[in-house]
Amino acid sequence: MSIWNLWPVMGLAILLGVSSCGRSNDGRPTEAPVAQPVSGSVEEAVNQVAQGKFVDDCFRGTESKLREMARALDQRTTEIRDLSQQLAKKNQSHRLIRLGPIVAVEPKNREIPASKWLRMEYDWTMAYDFFKRIENRAVDEDWLELNSVVRQMLSSESVRLVDGWDFADGRNSEPYLKSVLEKIDLCYQDPNCFLPELSESDRSYILRPGYFTNAYRELQKTSVRTERRKWIELLRKIVNGRLQSRAGFRVNPEMRQTAPGKFEVNVDAGDLESAKAELASIVESYWRDSTHSISLRWQPKREGLYRILADMAAGSRAYVHHLEKTMHLYSGVRTAVIAHEFGHIFGFVDYYYETWDAGTCRYRSEWDEGDLMSNSSGGAVLPKHWELLKNSYPLSASDR
Ligand SMILES: [Zn+2]
Repeated sequence: MSIWNLWPVMGLAILLGVSSCGRSNDGRPTEAPVAQPVSGSVEEAVNQVAQGKFVDDCFRGTESKLREMARALDQRTTEIRDLSQQLAKKNQSHRLIRLGPIVAVEPKNREIPASKWLRMEYDWTMAYDFFKRIENRAVDEDWLELNSVVRQMLSSESVRLVDGWDFADGRNSEPYLKSVLEKIDLCYQDPNCFLPELSESDRSYILRPGYFTNAYRELQKTSVRTERRKWIELLRKIVNGRLQSRAGFRVNPEMRQTAPGKFEVNVDAGDLESAKAELASIVESYWRDSTHSISLRWQPKREGLYRILADMAAGSRAYVHHLEKTMHLYSGVRTAVIAHEFGHIFGFVDYYYETWDAGTCRYRSEWDEGDLMSNSSGGAVLPKHWELLKNSYPLSASDR
């Protein structure tokens, strides 16, 4: 077992659900961008990140180590792909399910861990130390792990350094964001308000280092009332975007509750057209308990439907792109991950948190082991998910 054996996100989906529709005054997005997987050349991905507008000293400080790892991984692309396919075939605890152009991986025993928050911290130095321990060995499972870890971290680095997202809101942020938004909202609704009445703790939250709140500082600086109203509106958008990506729910107009606890959702099978029966049975087996169920209803392609796409590149990752209404799957995806991605189509946001600490140049992930929307590689659908679905898709009067 390596240091990475807790890694929750291998092969799994980062979702940072919302698309970046707007930019703040400092060029940073007002909502979390979609994290794209890093497939193909690792060094090419490093080059792209290195040109990012928001590149910082943390990145510069470890860039040469990162490039060394990238070259080592790129030299072994074929061996890494071959070994990962061999291991998947040999793995006795899993079976493979052919889904049209891709293959999904199903554990023979679906063990559901109890609900429990776990956390893990990681940075380039840890990855590099791991690399140094294995660099003289032939490609083995540790290399596969390094490959996943480096690609995963590069994807986060791209969101942080190219897109400009700050990874500042973690598991405990929700009450602060709610409190701040409430006060900004009050001010926004009152045309005669030119400064929200934030408490000391509100201010200390949105003015902490690394948090992009130029809008608040600009608001304090100017005495022009129309300018202030503009900053208040932007600030409201920023805080709301953060709250939505942490605690929101995206109602899907193609989903409805047809009888108490029974739901139906229209989806376009897209690239998985030839495997839609198998796919529906996988998804429906996760999203079901004694009193609740969700049925997928396959529909021909049309506006408004989510469409399933198969990504054929090696080292890919599953994700949902809400703006484009697409779900991306790849060969080797776990069935639980597919069920997690469908959770996004049903309206759920991700319930795990990745934060960045500029002081230590480290990321931290926190996730609940037992929750499918938090631990997409092994969690379960919980009563709270059904409650949220019932509230979000109320029965129509005639069905009640
Ligand atoms: Zn997700």
